[in-house]
Amino acid sequence: MGSKIGFIGLGIMGKPMSKNLIKAGHELTVYDLVDASVRELESAGAKTAHSSREVAEKSDLVITMLPDSPDVEKVALGSDGIFEGIKKGSTYVDMSTISPVTSKRLAEVAKEKGVRILDAPVSGGEKGAIEATLTIMVGGSKEVFDDCLPVFQAMGKNIVYCGGVGSGQVVKACNQILVAGVLEVAGEALVLGTKAGVNPETVLKVIAGGYAMRVLDARGPLILKGDFKPGFKTRLHYKDLGIALAAGSEYGVPLPVTSLIHEMMGIMKIWGRGEYDHSGIITVLQDLARAETKK
Ligand code: NAD
Repeated sequence: MGSKIGFIGLGIMGKPMSKNLIKAGHELTVYDLVDASVRELESAGAKTAHSSREVAEKSDLVITMLPDSPDVEKVALGSDGIFEGIKKGSTYVDMSTISPVTSKRLAEVAKEKGVRILDAPVSGGEKGAIEATLTIMVGGSKEVFDDCLPVFQAMGKNIVYCGGVGSGQVVKACNQILVAGVLEVAGEALVLGTKAGVNPETVLKVIAGGYAMRVLDARGPLILKGDFKPGFKTRLHYKDLGIALAAGSEYGVPLPVTSLIHEMMGIMKIWGRGEYDHSGIITVLQDLARAETKK
């Protein structure tokens, strides 16, 4: 694989990611709508272009790091876009977080044009982008993934091949559910703790250092085996969430997600699953979706 890389989208993430590619010795051509960002990269050693098409013409590997699906569609498929300039046999890696449906559509166009394509969204935030410690979730051909690995290694640490086209975006969506869920329920816990008179720093110290943060390490492999032997019985966790909800009611703290989980654990009791480990809550979701996660 050639080391002439094009990078389009020099925002919070793209700027440090592209700088790390330069540090790793790659020759970079960059483009962004914001001229100041392009100039900043030029000072860091990148060549510049006036359009996405021009970036593609000058590169063997084109990377995009754009806000959303319509932006990627425009930059890739629009006039003066990547597919107007990219050479047959080149590679296009989209690292934005977008819909897997859009990734699949781009892959169809890429196939027609003889272009290799990967979807490779990231997690780890601006800090991970600056420190080159991003997690990178990659979908597409394994062979193309293997070829691109050294490029990914210049930007990230935990680089995971997820499967065919769109798989990287699917895994990213799963990841975002978890991040949002943890932040929301941590918020509920902190607001309840504070309004009920406990120092929020104390609440954070206890929850961040406790089982909540290790629960997936402990139960994840067993969940995949469909092993719900307790552990901690669902009926007891149901009782604990009832205590939290009563406290919320007492102190005037709405706990919307806690209420939902309480209801779901209640369903487990009705369905005769009160003795399952609390991780068995996934069985309610599996039954609703008519799907099994068991390996
Ligand atoms: P951002 O808004 O800071 O940067 C996007 C860049 O794309 C901007 O510089 C913008 O000018 C440029 N751009 C938009 N349309 C363009 C076009 N038509 N042609 C050329 N350039 C164009 O966004 P970000 O925070 O860097 O995020 C980029 C992607 O990474 C998003 O999909 C986001 O969801 C994802 N992501 C962000 C973070 C984070 O913490 N910021 C973490 C993980 C993933």
